[in-house]
Parts: sequence; structure tokens; C-alpha cells
Amino acid sequence: MKLPFIGIVSLLAFGCCWITTDAAPQQRASSCGYDSCTPSKPGVINVHVVPHTHDDVGWLKTVDQYYYGSKTGYQRAGVQYIIDSVIKELVKDPARRFIYVEMAFFSQWWQEQTEEKKAVVKQLVEEGRLEFINGGWCMNDEAGTHYNDIIDQMTWGMRFLNDTFGECGRPKIGWQIDPFGHSREQASIFASMGFDGVFFGRIDWVDRTQRKAKKEMEMIWHTSNSPGEPNSIFTGIFYEHYSAPNGFCFDVVCRDEPFIDSPRSADYNVVKKVKDLEAHIKAKALSYSTSNIMLTMGDDFNYMSADMNFKNMDKMIRYTNELASGVNLFYSTPSCYVKAINNEAGSRPWPTKTDDFFPYSNDPHAYWTGYFTSRPAYKGTVRKANTFLQSCKQLHSLAGQSAGGQNLIDSLRRSMGEAQHHDAVAGTEKEHVSQDYRLRLHDSLVDCQKDVGNSFSQLLPIGSQALPPQEFCLHLNVSQCAITESSSRFVTTVYNPRSHEVTTYVRLPVMNGVYTVLDPDGSELIVQLVPLVNAALRSIETERPKSSATHELVFQAASIPALGHKTFYIVKSSARHGQQHSTITSSRERQSTTVRMAEAGERIAVSNGKLSVNFDANGLIESVVVDGVTVMMSQNLMWYAGMNEGNANSIFDDRPSGAYVFRPNGTDATPISTQATLIVQTGALVSEVYQQFSDWASQVVRVYKGQSDVEIEWTVGPIPVGDGIGKEIVSRVTTQIPSGGRFYTDSNGRQTLLRRRDFRPTWTLDVTEPVSGNYYPINSHIYVTDSEQNAGAVLALVNDRSQGGTSLKDGQIELMVHRRLLYDDHFGVGEPLNEPGDGPGLVVRGTHYLLVNPSLAGNHPVSLIRPLAQQMFMRPWMSFSATSLSFTNWKNNFRTEKSGLRAPLPDNVHILTLEPWRDGTHLLRLEHVYDIGEHSTLSEPVTLILDDLLADYTITSAVETTLGANQWASESSRLPWTTADANHQQPLKKVSSKTRQSSGKTSVTLLPMEIRTFIIQMTPK
Ligand SMILES: [Zn+2]
Repeated sequence: MKLPFIGIVSLLAFGCCWITTDAAPQQRASSCGYDSCTPSKPGVINVHVVPHTHDDVGWLKTVDQYYYGSKTGYQRAGVQYIIDSVIKELVKDPARRFIYVEMAFFSQWWQEQTEEKKAVVKQLVEEGRLEFINGGWCMNDEAGTHYNDIIDQMTWGMRFLNDTFGECGRPKIGWQIDPFGHSREQASIFASMGFDGVFFGRIDWVDRTQRKAKKEMEMIWHTSNSPGEPNSIFTGIFYEHYSAPNGFCFDVVCRDEPFIDSPRSADYNVVKKVKDLEAHIKAKALSYSTSNIMLTMGDDFNYMSADMNFKNMDKMIRYTNELASGVNLFYSTPSCYVKAINNEAGSRPWPTKTDDFFPYSNDPHAYWTGYFTSRPAYKGTVRKANTFLQSCKQLHSLAGQSAGGQNLIDSLRRSMGEAQHHDAVAGTEKEHVSQDYRLRLHDSLVDCQKDVGNSFSQLLPIGSQALPPQEFCLHLNVSQCAITESSSRFVTTVYNPRSHEVTTYVRLPVMNGVYTVLDPDGSELIVQLVPLVNAALRSIETERPKSSATHELVFQAASIPALGHKTFYIVKSSARHGQQHSTITSSRERQSTTVRMAEAGERIAVSNGKLSVNFDANGLIESVVVDGVTVMMSQNLMWYAGMNEGNANSIFDDRPSGAYVFRPNGTDATPISTQATLIVQTGALVSEVYQQFSDWASQVVRVYKGQSDVEIEWTVGPIPVGDGIGKEIVSRVTTQIPSGGRFYTDSNGRQTLLRRRDFRPTWTLDVTEPVSGNYYPINSHIYVTDSEQNAGAVLALVNDRSQGGTSLKDGQIELMVHRRLLYDDHFGVGEPLNEPGDGPGLVVRGTHYLLVNPSLAGNHPVSLIRPLAQQMFMRPWMSFSATSLSFTNWKNNFRTEKSGLRAPLPDNVHILTLEPWRDGTHLLRLEHVYDIGEHSTLSEPVTLILDDLLADYTITSAVETTLGANQWASESSRLPWTTADANHQQPLKKVSSKTRQSSGKTSVTLLPMEIRTFIIQMTPK
């Protein structure tokens, strides 16, 4: 049912005690969902005919071009016509069915309809004739997406459905038919959303062949290590693609013959078509284990003239049932298919799966592992935009802004929903589409900035002054910010979206000078002015529209409160402003950075007291010393030559490296240079070494005082392709750690999975692409270790955006940071991945944290990595305003420090979501961020008191929902399945709890890796 509004404050309870004030609840339908399914027949092959359209939220055309059907030169596709046309055809016959997936399109179409048309559509939904599947804003990519983004985009789409159609609009099935590989975390998210199954079309061709032979095209996927969670999901793989069988595409964009059923016609073809289909059905049925199979009838942007499709499908069903033997065709949906096989299988056990479906390959030389890195600048922007979206939503809730006024946030919610599409963040769209995505995201970021400004205007003032406008510098990564460069007196507000105190180093682009930075207590902080050296300036030239900064002002922002801010007051001093020359001179010396160019052959070392990094005579890293123990290491930027077209003498001749596929030309990566020129800068807070490898590749290796990791900021581009060779650039780190062919990668930034070189856990791999066949998506971290007992050494890289990565040799890890290619790889995008940037080629800058530890001393490697990964993922967000107020005046007028939480949360708990929801309620997601066995104490279940979570509000009501916030948890029930492995019997009971304590307060327990979602009511304290 439609989630009722929580109108009257009630005490925390188990979903029993809220009172609805929803004035017009959706009438509970009697015939949607499983009740609307056509029953299967015994003794025959039951063929579920599933009409569908696959509507990419941007790919060859932009989102709007697809919706309106413009630019037919790119592709004949118009979503508004598809939905118009399908609705007309559904109305004609109650037997017909259709499923729809992408809410980015459907919600727009809905807004344009009359009340009469809306009533018709609602009836179709309530009768199960139109069913929503997946139901997110888009069908998201599974490799380049972070779990925070996936959950948000699914929630935003399903919220539209819930608001519009109530219970009958609630999706029950995941439908990831096109994404290029499938993650364990995605499946886990679907399970936690209460889904009964997930289907997809793309798995490795060898895996598919072997599964067909073993009748293991369907299975129960165990998606988490935590046995207490409802963590498994029925998973179905298509026989081939998601399109109709050969000869049976009746769409206006197809060329297959329609059913010609007049016996008088010379072209009469009914008997032949039925025979062809019967053969297809019977061949297909051999690979599936029940008497049901699914016939997906649709393809990309099909059904613009739905009458053609339905008229012929009607005939296909009628004639096949009449003329073929042992088959029973009927219109159906994926959910009805799942229900049918669930009924038929009963207690018969299903095969299981625990790993994931990466990497995906559809021939021996087409590993779709290039898109893990394609369009790296956009991937970085999407990740940063998530941090800002979370901050924006948190502040809106904490400021008590009217829940009705969410338009400025909605804009970013939509754009981030689009960005998760499997041709958006994946980087597999055309260049003009990529530019459109960037523009939409930028405009939405500006909207959310306005919302943050509004929130700060309510949260910060305590005196008579109004808060001056806040400015946000989106180009801080290229050292550009107008306020910090031009103002002699400004304040920086650092907002921390994490649930724990954070200490971070701030870097602000400034002009040379002497600076005083005061923390909220008025204490003067140690600062360091780091010159922007020529090497870094030159290589980012194409990304820097305007900046006159000569230096970066560095200071430590210590103990930024959880879900809170600190304001730093910054003054640029000069003799002109009345200070003594001697004071200025001594300050200048204190703040300065020693800069020098390394001599040829000189061995450089930089240290922060905890660790030191040593460079060899060629200017490359040769070792890192941690706690007095030296770990020998090499690190370099290297490049693979992308396979060109027409390169070989095999049938795979036309398979170059492209937007999707990573296919190096067979040789190993080559160093961009075997030596680097170094500029060494040392000072009070940070020491850094600028390594220039070439005029298009450089790095800064930084060690900040007190930190236990090495920061490597890489700048790559424009990648030279004048030699006619596409290039794919990796950062490779090599140690002597004997890792035994094993390495570990994250799954959408959350779980950590074991990988083994040249090996797949459930099928036999023939190594045809020794490099790209070992590439995996890295959203957060990759590591190698020499011990399964947490006793040895670990080497890890933590990244700031999704990238491809691997370990090709023991002790070695690499991440691909950029790629520029000259040929299309023939999977549809029709363009080489050759991003122009501002003209000569895209320049990209990003950050890796390098963690090396010679002795784990009993600690699980992930326990060392998770804090760094959290730090990278949720970096504080800064805003700026120039001011003429004195520090005291500022402090008297504005809060300079404030936490949104009553107290920081335990180290294993993160507030994944705090956002305004509807009618004054808010959405709260609490997350346990450690998996089983990762830490001696932090991997234990953790209990929180919910009532007093926030500093300024009492949580007076909290009702738990499923992960997608579209169903009360207490009302969620999933189909039971039986598996052969006793440890994972379904259905699994949720053993976590929410209980009322004797104090009257409510405690919530989180199990390892568990996320719990609540709709809460907050009242000011
Ligand atoms: Zn697609």
C-alpha cells in the first residue's frame, strides 16, 4: 500500500503505532502483483511472453533527446511516444501486459497527462497490466557506482511510484538487463529492498555456456557475509540477450516479417513462424529447470508504435498455442514468472552463487573492463557530487527548512539519478551526451548550493547580522577560488557530512602573502604556504579558466564536528595594513615552504614523523619506511597501447580497445618515463615531492604531518595520440609481498571480495586476455597481503572515483586512471573514446591514498583501509564568504562550531542518509560499516539509542521501512526459496532488533554491514 503519512507524533514502536492522516489513501487494489498472474499449466512448457522496452537514460542521445524523440539521425527513439502508444494498446485487451523501468522518463511523461489519462493508467497498474520493474530513476551501472548513489537513485524512482500508484506501483523485481557485469552489492541492495528476484542479460559468455549445460541459469545469490540478514535473492540469467527471439521483433525499428495469416496470401507464413518459435522455445527450455521460461519481447526503445508489436504478439500467442505441441504461451511479467517457478519448485533446492559477475566478456577478446575507467573526470565529478548531495540533504533536515521546499534538492536528486545510468557514469555515452550530463549535474549542484546557503542562514546566525552569501568553489581541485584569491579577509566554513569527528588538511588557492588563520576559539593555527609549482600549473592549464593564485594556503582543520561545521577566520596581512615589518617577516618565514629542485641522481626522502618516502636516483619511489621498517617498493605511471582496428589476423580483428572494452595490444604496460624530475617542498605541515614524468604526466607525493598514508595526486593528460596509438594509463605499485595470486577489491564501495588472478570461482577460465581479463571495478579500495591470518604485510590503494584495477603479479596492484582511444569498439556507441577536454585532450587529476603496512600484527587489512576509504568518500565540503567583520564580531554574530549530532556515533556506525522526506518527516538510514571478522570489536553488532541521536531535535517517531523507503519493514515479506547449502536456508529471518528500553527510549541494533532505514519525525528540543 501507499506509505501513509505520519501525521501525529507517536512514540517509537514497531510499526504499529503510527496514525495516518493521508487524506486520500490509494484504494487497495485486489488484482495487482501476484494476484494478477496468469497461472501456468501442468505438463507443458509455459512461456511467459514479457513485452518490454529498454530506454537508456542517455547514451547516443541526451536524456531529453530520447524523451522527445529528437535527433533521429543519432537514433530513432522517442520515449514519450513509447509510453503513449503502449497505454493505448494495453487498454484494448485485458490479457496484454507491459513492464516499465526508468522513472526518469515515466515521471516526466506522467506530469504531462490529463487527469482522465492518469486514471486510465492507474487502473492498468491496479489490474497488474502495467507493472513497474526495477523502478529506480534509471537502470544503474553496477561497476562505476557507489552504493550510496545506487540506494539514492532507486529510492528516488520508487518514491515517485509510491506517491503515484501506492502498493500496486511497488517494484518486486530487479531488471538489470543491460549493465555490463553485475555486482554482489547491487544484488544485496535489491534483497534489502524486499525484491523477490533479479534478472539480467549480460554474463561472461563461457559462464553462460557452462550454466546452460548444467541448467544453472537460475540460482539463489548469497549477497552478503552476514548470515542473519535477508541477504539472498533469486537470480535469473537470460538465454541470450534481452531482445525478442530472432525473427520475432515486430517493432517499427525492426525488419522481421509480421505474422501473415491470410491463407490466400502468397506470403502466408504462420506455420513457418510457429515452427521457428517452437524450436526456439524447446531449445531454450533445455537450459532451465522448471516448466516455465521467459520470452523477452522488446529491445532498446521499442514500442514507439506498440500496435505493431501487440497485434503480432497476439497472433504469435494464438497461433503457437493452436499449432505447436507441448507449449503454452501467455502474456506475463517477470514477477509472474518468478512466482510461477517459485510455486513449481516448492522445496526443491536451487543452485547458489556467492561471488559476483565481474568481469563481463562476450568473446575471448572483448572484456568489458575499459568502462571501469572511461571518462575519469566525469566519474570524479559524480563522486564529489554525492558528497555534496548528502551534505545538502543533511543540512536541510538539520536546519528545519520546510519539508515542502525541496525543489533545490530535487534537482540534484534527479541529476544524480541520471548520472548512475549504465551509459552515464559508465562513460560509454557519446561525447555530446557526456557534456549534457555534466551540464545537468553542474546546474543541479548550483541549486543545492543555494539550498545549503538557505540552511546556513538558519543554522549559523546568533546575532543581529544576516549571514553573508556563501560561495562554493567547484574548482578547488585545480587551485581556483575567486574569494580566497582576491579577499584579504574571509571565512571558510568546513562542513563534515560524516557521523564522526574529522581532522583534515585544508588547501586554499591564494596569492603570496602572510596569512593568519583563526579557529573558532580564536587560536591562531599553524599554516603553510605551498607554492604552486610550474609543473603542476602547466599540466592543468586546459582545465583552469581563470586563476591568479600563486600558492596554496594549508592548515589543519582539526576535530570538525560530526554532521557539523567549523568556521575558520582568515586574514591576509601586509605591511600596508599596519603590521610591523619584523612581525611580517618572521611570519613569512614560519609559514614558508622550502622549495628546491633535486639534483640529477640525488636520492630524496620526505617524512612526516610517522613514515617516510624514499626516492631513487631516477626520481621514482623506491621504498616507504613505516615504524622503522622499510618496505621496498616501486611506483610509476605507465601506459598500455590500446589495440587498434584491423590489427590482427583473427576473427577478432575488429575488436579495438574502446569505451567499453579494454584490449591492450598484447604487451605489458610501458613506463611513461623511467625517471622523473623532482621538486621537493617541505614545511611545517606537509612535505611533498612533485614528480614530472613528461609534459603530460606528473604526480605529487604528499605526506601530511600525523597521517599514516601517503597521498599521491596524479595529473594525466592530454594523452598524446599523434603516433596513432590509443593509450591507457595506469598507476602501478610493486612490492615484494608474496600475495599468492590473490587480491581484494571492494564491491560498489562496500563489501570486500577476494579475487584470484586468472581464476573464476564457479567456472573454468581460459585465459585469452591476461591483462583485461583480470581487471575488476574499484570504487574504494584494492589491496594485496601475504597472509590470510592478518600477520603479514599489506599494500593498498584507496581511490577517489571508480577505476579499473588488478594485481598482475604478486605484491603488485594497479589502477587505471585515464584512457584515450582512437577507435570505436563496435558495441554501439559509434565513437572512439577520445575526450577533447578544452581542445587538445582531456586533463584529469585525482588522488590515491597509498597504504603500506609491514606488519598487520593481528589486524584485518580492511580495518586499516576502512577509515581511509571513509575519509576519501566523504570529504568535508567548504563554503566561503568575504567579510569586513572582525573575528570577535563574526563570532558574536554566527555559530562558528556546531554538530548536528548529540555525540559522535560509534566508529562502526555511519548515517548513510538524513534527508527531508515528506510532510515534515525525514528519512534516516543507519549503517554498520564493518563486515564480519574485519575488526575485533568494530565488527560486533552495535546498539544506538535513537531518540537522542540529534543535537537539536528529539526523534519522536521512527518507523522502519525496507531499504528503498517504499514499504514498512513490518509488512515486507519475500518469497521463500530452498537452497542446497544449509547455511543459507531461505527465507532468512532478520535477527537485528529495535526495542523499547525501560527508560522509554528506543534502541536500534545494527549487525555487521547492515543498513536500517527509518521514516522519522523530529521535534525541536
Ligand atoms: Zn542500456
